[in-house]
Amino acid sequence: MKYEAVKNYYRGSFHESSATESLDVISPIDGNLLSKVPMSTVDELNKAVESAKNAFPKWSNTPIKERVQVFFKYRYLLEKNFDELTALVSEENGKTWDEAKAEVEKSIELTEFACSMPQLVSGEILEVSKGVECRTEHFPLGVVASIVPFNFPLMVPNWTMPNALVLGNTMIMKPSELVPLSCLRMAELLKEAGLPDGVFNIINGGKEIVEGICAHEGIEAVSFVGSTKVAKLVYQQATHNLKRCVALGGAKNHLFVLPDANPTMTATNVTASMSGCAGQRCMAASAMLAVGDVNPIIAKICDEARKVVPGKNLGAVISKAAKERIEGYITEAEKNGAKILVDGRNAVVEGKENGTYVGPTVIDYVTPEMSVAKEEIFGPVISILRTNTLDEAIKIENANPYGNAAAVFTQSGGLARYVMEHASAGMIGVNIGVPVPREPFSFGGWNDSRFGANDITGKSSIEFWTKLKKTTTKWNPEAGINWMS
Ligand code: NAD
Repeated sequence: MKYEAVKNYYRGSFHESSATESLDVISPIDGNLLSKVPMSTVDELNKAVESAKNAFPKWSNTPIKERVQVFFKYRYLLEKNFDELTALVSEENGKTWDEAKAEVEKSIELTEFACSMPQLVSGEILEVSKGVECRTEHFPLGVVASIVPFNFPLMVPNWTMPNALVLGNTMIMKPSELVPLSCLRMAELLKEAGLPDGVFNIINGGKEIVEGICAHEGIEAVSFVGSTKVAKLVYQQATHNLKRCVALGGAKNHLFVLPDANPTMTATNVTASMSGCAGQRCMAASAMLAVGDVNPIIAKICDEARKVVPGKNLGAVISKAAKERIEGYITEAEKNGAKILVDGRNAVVEGKENGTYVGPTVIDYVTPEMSVAKEEIFGPVISILRTNTLDEAIKIENANPYGNAAAVFTQSGGLARYVMEHASAGMIGVNIGVPVPREPFSFGGWNDSRFGANDITGKSSIEFWTKLKKTTTKWNPEAGINWMS
């Protein structure tokens, strides 16, 4: 085992879990055992909540301009430890070095946004009647929780942690049990940056801890990122217990490829979108709607896909189970009459035979009722559905229950605009395969890809992590009385 067993983190230090059950943390790159993660108990969650609760009064009473200083230092530490963090993300998640590097870069960008928070949250003031002023201020909620998935071990925790903490909350983080190591390093860096003990806490575990978080009366708000199935449960449980909740779910992102699209730009973008991070991005292209004759573009996509090589510029998928699930989808599509143009099944990387790799896969002549057309595959697979008209393609996209992202490839502004208006998704790309809105724009899908009123990052997150206080004041008795004062 490369690292010591994962511990929980509260009161500003690491604590060995009292759990009797633990899971292996396996590197998808080569199947090596990295660590063991405890399936912590609710008793341990209670200790973390108590730690966060005790830290809240002092932290929330610290002026935001002082709180934010910790995050300037944290940002510096992310840069200082850049290579080490990149290696850790790659090792536990299976990403390539460049992809892991991008994840650390994005974590830095997220922290920079949190550092700008004092500029964004200043309230409003207006004289609403003669001598009477109304003003608004953002107040933190208290102890909040963040439950995160496996596919971005460092970035997704940084979607929530810096903003929530800068805004004065204290937090319980529940990492994915598949990739718990990056979060631990995050806690160490926050401590080094000067974050007071108890402001940030980590409890490792699975379902029991998630349910415990949703039920805990000491927790005010829950953010969740993961599959739609669990997002729905978390949203239902947390709101049933009268907590504020935003729960981001899975995705089935559609790319509209029109005959006038630039072939090279389209092929490289489609391929990068479907195969980047081994297709394990909620923004990954999963279905391509080929409108009219786009055969030359499809041929180019296949050429591009063949340049993506497992173990070189393509990372591993998270687990053996994931590899089997993804390959199962491809096999089922083939049996149902789809044509496999590029086949990524049975990929093996020399010297890393226990790694879990799936090669890039292009499936053509997929029909709307096939599983590969409808379901999230979460692997480097693109399903091509052919349509005669753009409206037919939009109908297919609109019928899908997810709604994270959609993109259109065309040189026509009018047609792009039509897709922008009619695609039922929260994030739209025009000639961009992975339309992640960068800070200060907020991240969040529609439909079954997000439950709750707010996006999870950017300016929208301010509304989620704070409550607004409206104060009306009058100091001058001579102002008299009117209907509002
Ligand atoms: P997951 O839903 O299996 O797990 C997410 C979290 O929920 C983990 O911390 C896990 O421990 C916990 N969990 C798992 N099963 C649970 C249960 N039955 N009850 C309570 N908690 C449970 O997701 P994952 O496999 O880690 O991540 C991949 C999924 O996340 C994909 O569907 C992907 O699209 C989605 N995702 C979405 C976004 C987005 O922004 N919409 C971003 C990243 C990932």
